[in-house]
Amino acid sequence: MHLRDYDISQRYTATVRSSEPITAEDAEAEVRHIVMRVDDDFRFKAGQSIGVLLEEPDDFGNPYRMRLYSIANAPNPKSVEAGVEIELCVRRCSYLDPVSGERYPGMLSNYLCDASSGDTLTLTGPYGRNFQAPESPEANLLMIGTGTGMAPFRAFLHYLLDAQPERPGQVRLFYGAETGLERSYGNVPETDLGQYYEERTFKAFQILSAATHAGVPASLESVLEDNAGDAWELIQDPNTHVYVAGLSKIARVLDDTLGSAAGSDEVWQTTKRALMAQKRWSELLYD
Ligand SMILES: Cc1cc2nc3c(=O)[nH]c(=O)nc-3n(C[C@H](O)[C@H](O)[C@H](O)COP(=O)(O)OP(=O)(O)OC[C@H]3O[C@@H](n4cnc5c(N)ncnc54)[C@H](O)[C@@H]3O)c2cc1C
Repeated sequence: MHLRDYDISQRYTATVRSSEPITAEDAEAEVRHIVMRVDDDFRFKAGQSIGVLLEEPDDFGNPYRMRLYSIANAPNPKSVEAGVEIELCVRRCSYLDPVSGERYPGMLSNYLCDASSGDTLTLTGPYGRNFQAPESPEANLLMIGTGTGMAPFRAFLHYLLDAQPERPGQVRLFYGAETGLERSYGNVPETDLGQYYEERTFKAFQILSAATHAGVPASLESVLEDNAGDAWELIQDPNTHVYVAGLSKIARVLDDTLGSAAGSDEVWQTTKRALMAQKRWSELLYD
């Protein structure tokens, strides 16, 4: 779906409460964890995205520019009366002009990364009804992501911890980044994701790599390969839901790895089509 096809008529005002870098100072990219509060009657579900609007005409004459961002937390039902808290995980982007060869700052990500406590933003949405955690605690979750693709998985884990504290379903998180993003979101004891679940059901494979292969952290590829048998076995279980999030380049790596685990690309593609038809495959990919 193209950005201009999103309904942006319903708007909300959000006030930034904090903005902290979650990448090391010397990291190649800057990623910030931004917390904001919406006082209007805004409701969302774990895994959904919001639109951030900037009143700045674009090249097509639209008065606003809009970009989507995954909400990196789950709704807290207890805080509804005092407003709704939204957390984002935003990478400061830039792009290379193919004609001039010059590098320009991405407009919306820089606008967000430059926002500080007390600033107000205009939001639309939420969007993405299809990227949601299964309601059954019996369901297995296989989550695979890169970079800021961690944001919806963080929301899923918050939701599962809160809504399904005793869950027999298996949870697997394969996550790779080349930015040092795991410093805060990784499965390090006593930090964010380290607190989730007993090891029997939850395994997080955090991968940090400077080397990349076609834009995908090389070690994500190798860790996926090392664990492809486990992932493939989990996929055979009719209770398993697969989620893929982050830069779209990961889709090819996943197809290659699971194609090998399945024995052939044909078997894998047939399985993937079946997962999609049964609504057990969800993607949130962007370029
Ligand atoms: C459903 C959805 C959810 C998204 N969620 C997030 C999110 O949680 N966090 C986030 O930072 N971005 C997210 N994005 C990307 C975001 O919408 C913008 O595309 C991004 O912030 C760049 O916008 P810009 O206006 O700054 O720059 P633009 O001028 O639009 O793009 C600048 C360059 O950055 C590249 N780029 C865009 N996003 C990323 C990224 N996340 N990592 C690495 N390179 C990137 C683009 O390929 C482009 O070359 C999401 C996109 C979609 C479609």
